[in-house]
Amino acid sequence: MTTLFTKIINREIPADIVYEDDDVLAFNDINPQAPVHILIIPKKPIATLNDLTEEDLALVGRLHLTAANIAKQQGFAEEGYRVLMNCNEHGGQTVYHIHLHLMGGRQFTWPAG
Ligand code: AMP
Repeated sequence: MTTLFTKIINREIPADIVYEDDDVLAFNDINPQAPVHILIIPKKPIATLNDLTEEDLALVGRLHLTAANIAKQQGFAEEGYRVLMNCNEHGGQTVYHIHLHLMGGRQFTWPAG
């Protein structure tokens, strides 16, 4: 199933892209929940975390490394940040193409908010 993230990858709809390489794309979230809110996605369309396979392990590692690199480049890595992935309805997933949310620039609480 094609999602809007595939359209962003293919430049069929615009996004504010902050990083791109052969495997990964990162762009600002259109509805930010923090001063910095970046989505980091694989170019390979994997619908949910439940659909991961062994062959995707390096790719998922690369998503996390990209999150840390962006946090360092944007200067909030030492202060800290939150990285998360939602899965399916109870997780709050709305776009069925896996993505990390990289959020920074404010204090987060746990477990809520
Ligand atoms: P999730 O709810 O975890 O599936 O996250 C989907 C995220 O995509 C939400 O935070 C939305 O704000 C974001 N989003 C939806 N459409 C766009 C878009 N066109 N460009 C950037 N971010 C988007």
